[in-house]
Formats: sequence, structure tokens, C-alpha cells
Amino acid sequence: MQLQTSIKSTNRPFVIAGPCSIETEEQLFSVVRDLSKNPMIKMIRGGIWKPRTRPDSFEGIGAIGLPWIQAVKKEISLPFCIEVATPKHVEAALNAGIDALWIGARTTVNPFAVQDIVDALKGAEIPILIKNPVNPDVLLWIGAFERFQNAGLTDLTAVHRGFSIYSHPKYRNVPDWEIPIAFKEHFPDIPLINDPSHIGGNRQLILEIAQKAMDLDFDGLMIETHPQPEKAWSDSKQQVTPTDLQKILQQLVLRNKSEVNYETQLFQFREVLRQLDDEVFNILAKRMAICNEIGDFKRENNLTILSVNHWKKVVQERLENASEEKLSATFIRSLLDAIHQESIRHQNQVMNKNLHPND
Ligand code: PEP
Ligand code: MN
Repeated sequence: MQLQTSIKSTNRPFVIAGPCSIETEEQLFSVVRDLSKNPMIKMIRGGIWKPRTRPDSFEGIGAIGLPWIQAVKKEISLPFCIEVATPKHVEAALNAGIDALWIGARTTVNPFAVQDIVDALKGAEIPILIKNPVNPDVLLWIGAFERFQNAGLTDLTAVHRGFSIYSHPKYRNVPDWEIPIAFKEHFPDIPLINDPSHIGGNRQLILEIAQKAMDLDFDGLMIETHPQPEKAWSDSKQQVTPTDLQKILQQLVLRNKSEVNYETQLFQFREVLRQLDDEVFNILAKRMAICNEIGDFKRENNLTILSVNHWKKVVQERLENASEEKLSATFIRSLLDAIHQESIRHQNQVMNKNLHPND
């Protein structure tokens, strides 16, 4: 099958659904039969080798699941994808006639592991889905695609599943939407699928995350589905039944991405934004000119660039005004950090001219 073409020619979203892990033949048949009644489901997923963070978690039923997949595919004609993490997995999956393979986040992170998989494929014509690495490093994700492309494997699709974080009040894996957007800028023709199950880690969040992905023009969704989610052997909190999946998909608002009939009105809004951005950048330039003066002053008086107590006060005062300005605390913090870093760079240039004469 040609996955890129199917994704691009399907009305958004191209939905991939199925269990986190294939557990028993009955569970697999039950979930696939129910999913096949929904015409929005275009591909089935199911893990048989599960790279888990902790060794005491369920690590998949293994190759015994391959004949179950073959049996289910005889009854239901949807393409099937599974995760591969080693050359042995690749060989077994190719021999079993699996339609597509996905590379998990814990594998994408390791260039040697990715290269081993590429080498094991030896040019086989099979679509590959590549999840983002666990860390928010867009180049590492892009690098994995380049490894496949260099080996002549071009039917590639990206899956955004969020990024690991020590502890987050909302997400299991924070979405960091700027990373898939940067990916799309780099590879505009590679389809981009969102995985709200692993981002949210909680079935209650799936609709909200999937809606955002649709509004950011993602091509599809990968959603974990289980006949009895509470009893799932892995990722039980985030899986949904096929019926609940249908409800989620029905609630999605699919907006039009063509601006053709609205260009004049949008141009007016954007013109105002452009002028405001001009003002913001003019002010920033003025701010940096003052930083140069402060740099001169600090050099003459032998003072360090950073005064952490002063900086803490600046941040705190600004955050106190956050609700008044209707700006989120996270945005204020990252904007201040960026301005501060640039201000430090300016002062450093003025104060240590001799160390970087060419700047
Ligand atoms: C999965 O899809 O079940 C999985 C383990 O995903 P990830 O690699 O995104 O953690
Ligand atoms: Mn999972």
C-alpha cells in the first residue's frame, strides 16, 4: 500500500485506531470488528513488542500475535500497522505481511537503533510511521526521516505523540506544538498524524487534543482503542472503546484550510498585526540599545551582568500582572526569558569586546 497517498487523498482526519497492545486473539478480533463498522477508521494499530519505560510493565505478547493479525486481516480488509524496535522485529513483521510499521518514541531517540531498522528493511517497500523522539528535539526527529530517505524508503509519515517531562499537571507527554509545526515547515509534504492518546495519557483529554491537532492542520489521528479500556494490560487510562471513539470523532469540528474566499478580510487583520509587530520590534531594539548603555556602565564600574535578585523581581512583578494583560503565565515567562537572554548577549558584547572582536 502507499500510505502517504491514502492519507493525502482521504478527507481529514485519516484515523488509525486499535489497542495499545494486542493481548489475546479474542481482544484483537473484538476491537477490530467494532472499529471496522466505522468508515472513518482507515488503519488498525496494535503493539506486540512494547518498549516500556519500566521492566516490570507488560512488554507485549511478541511474535505469537503475528498469526492473529494475519487471521483478522483475512476477515477485515483494513491495513494493519505494528511497532518495530529491532531488526528481528522488522524481519518477523515483513515475513508476516504486515502493511506498515511504526517506530516508537523510545527508538527514534537513538540514531543507531533507527539505522539498524533501516538496514534491516533493505529497501523493502513498506510504509513507515515515525513517532517523535521522547525529547523535544526536532532535528533528531528529522534525522530519523533522513536515514530512511537515504536508504530509498520514501513512504514516510510523522506521528506527534508529545514529549517526556518530569511531571506535568495536565499531560502525560507535553505536546510542545511548535515542534510538529517546525517539522511541517521542514517536510511540508510528509503527512503528519497526531496521537492524542499518548499526549494526554487520559481518555478525557483526547477530544480537546485532537481538535487542536485538526485546527493546526494535522492530516490524521492515531487513537488507542480497546474493548474494555479499564482492563487493558497497558495504557489503560488513555484507551477508549470503539463506541467512545466514534463519539469523539463525531464531535470534532473540521475547519476549512483554504483561505481563498477570505483573503481580503484576513489581509486587513494581518496588516494590523504586522504594524503591531513592527512596534514590538522597534521597542525591543530600543530596549537593547539601553542594554548596551548598561553594559558600558557595568564595565566601567566592574559589575557582573547578572543580578539574580533583580531578575527574580522583574519576573515576579510581570507575572503578577498576567491576568490583567490576559497573557498566560507560561507565555510571559518564555517571552521574558528570551528578552533577558538577548539583553545579556548585548551586555556581554559591550563588556567583553576583546573576547569576540568579530561580532
Ligand atoms: C504506543 O504507541 O503504544 C507507544 C508505546 O507509543 P510511544 O512510542 O509514542 O510511547
Ligand atoms: Mn500505548
